[in-house]
Amino acid sequence: MGKILAKTRKHFTLKQKMPDFESNFRKKLLRWFRQNARDLPWRRNSSLYKTVVSEFMLQQTQVKTVLPYFERWMTIFPNFEVLASASVEAVVRQWSGLGYYARARHLHKTAQRFVQNPPRSYRDLLTCPGVGSYTAAAIASIAWNEPIAAVDGNVVRVLARVFNYSAIFTSKADAIAWTTPHAQKLLDKEQAGTFNEAMMELGAVVCTSTTPDCEHCPSQTFCKAFREHTVEVCPRFQPTPHFKKTVNRLWALRDEKLLLEPSLIGNKQLWELPELTEERKAQFRDLKEIFRAKRTVTNTIYTEVFYQPHSSMNENRSEAFFETLPFENCRWFSLQQLHTVALSGPHRRWIQQILRDEQQMAEAGTVP
Ligand code: SF4
Repeated sequence: MGKILAKTRKHFTLKQKMPDFESNFRKKLLRWFRQNARDLPWRRNSSLYKTVVSEFMLQQTQVKTVLPYFERWMTIFPNFEVLASASVEAVVRQWSGLGYYARARHLHKTAQRFVQNPPRSYRDLLTCPGVGSYTAAAIASIAWNEPIAAVDGNVVRVLARVFNYSAIFTSKADAIAWTTPHAQKLLDKEQAGTFNEAMMELGAVVCTSTTPDCEHCPSQTFCKAFREHTVEVCPRFQPTPHFKKTVNRLWALRDEKLLLEPSLIGNKQLWELPELTEERKAQFRDLKEIFRAKRTVTNTIYTEVFYQPHSSMNENRSEAFFETLPFENCRWFSLQQLHTVALSGPHRRWIQQILRDEQQMAEAGTVP
């Protein structure tokens, strides 16, 4: 009898505690968010359109990178109608530098959907191009207060720590599958959008992966990983295999004109510095490495190495010379017109960096 009573008491205590846990968690989180939310342009005079654009831009891109693009985007494409009627080239051009260009085309098509046959729910949003369950949940909750938890990497990290999930996530999908029911249970159904934003904000600025600020965290009293001193090892992911590849590139600058080559990224043609294949490399007797950079695409780390023909050869090797080389699809672009060219994001940054380096060397009187 004593055992049954103890069991009943335990069950009762749990039943009592859980709603307290959930409602207290919500209260503290929302109070913290009201006081600490970052002042972001899509939160000022928020609108469905701003939410949609910001959610597309924020897919796989950090807030600080998105900010200048978002501000400029709003002046050029202030609403769904203007964006939907723009050409896809104009849309991709404005996106140039943000990377993952399929997002620009998907956003363009989604804007057309909003003009012709507007989605009105989470389910409708899932039928729009480029809208997965996270983006649909974020838009539907923020714009329409639909009670769907939005789970991204930030939310996974926060909840894995709050519940001290000690197993290893085998993939991102595995982590999201584990986190979603917990997030859905904690969600404040009356303020779904604000709650989702607060969770994401907490993961982005407090419960970060490398330097979580537990001292100032509104969820500290609920956090099992904090109590059990396992924050640094939670969550755990199975390491993904990384492949390595080196790509050589040519830096050919003649009379303030730069040689570029078209590259198909997604379904879009963007311009990049020409790849220096073995066949092309064999055309030059003397090449000098001037710059190198790394980037990761899916699970491959690329080392990009940029070569310049030696300066003594630069004098002889004019544009006409390159016409005799296997650079068939390449074109010369004046440096002044580069800002209008749809360059791939990393290449735009690298070109600016190389030009800055060259200028500094010229000012210092160093021969490049
Ligand atoms: S207490 Fe620390 S680990 Fe736990 S949720 Fe807050 S910041 Fe994250």
